[in-house]
Amino acid sequence: MAEYAPPLDEIRFVLEHVAGIDELSGLEGFEHADVDSTMAVLEEFGRFVVDKVLPTNRVGDEEGSHVGGDPADPTVVTAAGFKEAYARYVESGWGTVPFDPAYGGGGFPWTVGVAMHELLNSGNVAFAMAPLLTQGALDMLFAHGSEEDKHRYLPKMVSGEWTGTMNLTEPDAGSDVGAVRTRAVPAADGSYRITGTKIFITFGEHDLAENIVHLVLARTPGAPPGTKGLSCFIVPKWLVEEDGSLGARNGVKVVSVEHKMGIRASPTCVLDYDEAVGYLVGAENAGMRLMFTMMNSARLSVGVEGLGLCEAAWQRARRYARERQQGRSPGATGPPSAIVEHADVRRMLLTMKASTEALRALHYFDARQIDLGRHHPDEAERAAATELAGLLTPLSKGWGTDLANEITSLAIQVFGGMGFIEETGVAQLYRDARITAIYEGTNGIQGMDLVGRKLPMRGGGVVADLTARMRATADELRAAGERVAPIGVQLADGLDVLQQATDWILAKGAGDPVQALAAATPYLRLFSQVVGAWLLGVEALACTGPTARSLPPGFADAKVATARYFADHILPTVHGLLPTITAGKADLFAVEI
Ligand SMILES: Cc1cc2nc3c(=O)[nH]c(=O)nc-3n(C[C@H](O)[C@H](O)[C@H](O)COP(=O)(O)OP(=O)(O)OC[C@H]3O[C@@H](n4cnc5c(N)ncnc54)[C@H](O)[C@@H]3O)c2cc1C
Repeated sequence: MAEYAPPLDEIRFVLEHVAGIDELSGLEGFEHADVDSTMAVLEEFGRFVVDKVLPTNRVGDEEGSHVGGDPADPTVVTAAGFKEAYARYVESGWGTVPFDPAYGGGGFPWTVGVAMHELLNSGNVAFAMAPLLTQGALDMLFAHGSEEDKHRYLPKMVSGEWTGTMNLTEPDAGSDVGAVRTRAVPAADGSYRITGTKIFITFGEHDLAENIVHLVLARTPGAPPGTKGLSCFIVPKWLVEEDGSLGARNGVKVVSVEHKMGIRASPTCVLDYDEAVGYLVGAENAGMRLMFTMMNSARLSVGVEGLGLCEAAWQRARRYARERQQGRSPGATGPPSAIVEHADVRRMLLTMKASTEALRALHYFDARQIDLGRHHPDEAERAAATELAGLLTPLSKGWGTDLANEITSLAIQVFGGMGFIEETGVAQLYRDARITAIYEGTNGIQGMDLVGRKLPMRGGGVVADLTARMRATADELRAAGERVAPIGVQLADGLDVLQQATDWILAKGAGDPVQALAAATPYLRLFSQVVGAWLLGVEALACTGPTARSLPPGFADAKVATARYFADHILPTVHGLLPTITAGKADLFAVEI
């Protein structure tokens, strides 16, 4: 059995019953993106991942990447196989799929791009980071670039011939992006000269593409302090002439690459900008505002890294548990049992499976909101979908990457001692997962975003709308027969707990923000578990109707049982989270640390 097989039946089901791919393909421009065409793309892409990307995963971890080439103008040498795999990625046009055909894109919804990223991340999360950062930069340029910028940069970036980066972090500006010091001085020709040091820049330099388009946050002379004084600049490694050909080498150089505990093949660079030519995107001092409009898709993409890692971990653990024989389950005689027969191993495996499926549902549903927010013809629908994406995205990123840490750890546990040995590959998944909870806004920052910015949206109206929708599903489940009614009962109970937690935070947070901030992380977990149970409940309902007949054999029963496991074994832990929320800040500040 292969190390990883794209879970295409499951993805199709989620696209149809959670992401509403049929409705998305009804939007103008997406007419060709019906479920069959989408699945044809995903099947082919899944083959590419398994044949070309997966084989680079281990070697990438072992070799990492390093600074090399001409000492006067160094580059980063990527691990064996990366160049070839990336060339095939570009040749096949895989990066183009979710972008505007006017710039060479495939014109598919972002949701389809998210499904592709899941597959790529399951294959090799370090490799996936080059396309991920390029898509982040593209997203920014599509939304905010001038026509001239779009003409100059988009076609080659959409094709993947050029890659993109996001340059926010500096030694003293991590979570506090407002502390960025890199300077941008206007030049006579309307461009700027960028000077400063950026650290931790993913694929900041490499040998995969002929040009790298950096998006850099910097501060113009006299700009206000903090985030309000940040501007965004395009700084290409090679300047681009009007006809699109490459011109002079720009003043940005790699200084070093970091040695990391995971995603070792993804070059994490220190970049030195020395009077580099930069071109302003949008207006001066609007950089952070522009970044915010991209925040949902960028953060969702990191959540999808978590999802891809969870799926890879679950598949490996399931296979191992079926093969490894150890002990006998109670009452069994004869040869030793496969460990999959033991109750505690089943608990771990079902936790992995149910969590991964809940995460997939959440991410695809979130991506759907991004698509509706951008493409729905009705303005009110667009606004509502964008609000909902805003509420869900800290859950996708925060819960998705926390679970990546937990699920990859569980995979090691299922493997026993062999999990701790690098040869089995699950240790790498665990190491690769660790960073996902840190970058693109640490998960602490995600919790703060949820309670500080998202809950108060429309005076709590956005969360109230979502809660009402979840309650309606709970009612439907309770009325839909004994197979799924218990899921409805647990969901209604979870919703009561969520309501109490939300009311407490809205009330206490209004008078003292630290009360809300102290509760942020357990609240994000509580909220996520309820949303996960809800979406698995939606899936279970789809399995009780006429749809069930068209599903692959055993799919509907497994789905309902998995949703029940989540509702019975994972969701009830919200009862333990509630008191940790309402305990407030007092204990946190009672101890001298
Ligand atoms: C492998 C890797 C790749 C990266 N790729 C990129 C990239 O491509 N581009 C880029 O710009 N950056 C990148 N980063 C940087 C990354 O986004 C930052 O590391 C991250 O934002 C956290 O900043 P920091 O490391 O300075 O931690 P700090 O900000 O110092 O945070 C340390 C701890 O304090 C907490 N904390 C900080 N401020 C607060 C607060 N106000 N309230 C509560 N808690 C707080 C954090 O949650 C965290 O737990 C990358 C980092 C790594 C390691």
